[in-house]
Amino acid sequence: MLEDKDFIKSCDVPGPTKEAIRAILLYKSEVTFTDKVVDCGCGTGGITCEFSQRAGEVISIDTNPEAIEVTSRNLKKFGLGDNVTLISDDGANALKDIDDIDIAVVGGSGRQLENILDIVDSKLNSKGRILITAILVDTKVEAVNKLKSLGYNPKLMEVNISNGRILDRGVLMISENPIAIITAKKR
Ligand code: SAH
Repeated sequence: MLEDKDFIKSCDVPGPTKEAIRAILLYKSEVTFTDKVVDCGCGTGGITCEFSQRAGEVISIDTNPEAIEVTSRNLKKFGLGDNVTLISDDGANALKDIDDIDIAVVGGSGRQLENILDIVDSKLNSKGRILITAILVDTKVEAVNKLKSLGYNPKLMEVNISNGRILDRGVLMISENPIAIITAKKR
């Protein structure tokens, strides 16, 4: 796994998604070296960089051109990127031109989540996996309801991570923001 502290960050781009969350996403995705992965809302490239090391192909999309720039710099920093295509566009728009998806990660959708999930569903291979990270309660509910209406059996995992900071007099636990990981698999 890459370490959070090694990522290039930007005050205008959220991320990277924390290491423990990236690890859960990887194992939930059941990624293999032949998979085609889409990272919608790639931010700083936290998830893109992890999948780039483990998948066949990664397509990363963000509406914010600066996010695409930071993702590109992080890929270069980690010596990755040969199998990554970066697209500066709205996810719903870019996804229209992408087919045969094995894994779709939605880490940012603005107000387009339902629209994005409709398109992902139509492009996802059988046994394909959808993973959504959500910090807003509203996004969690929207994701679960939309996946149910598309015929999936979604699962929601709320993750609370705390990391220990070693001090002279003991270990202080520092909590990270809770985040939900919503997953679904196509039959
Ligand atoms: N997983 C990322 C952080 C994602 S933050 C990391 O590890 O760095 C969410 C990102 O989603 C932001 O960069 C935002 O610009 C992007 N985003 C929001 N709505 C979007 C949309 N409709 N299409 C594509 N990207 C979107």
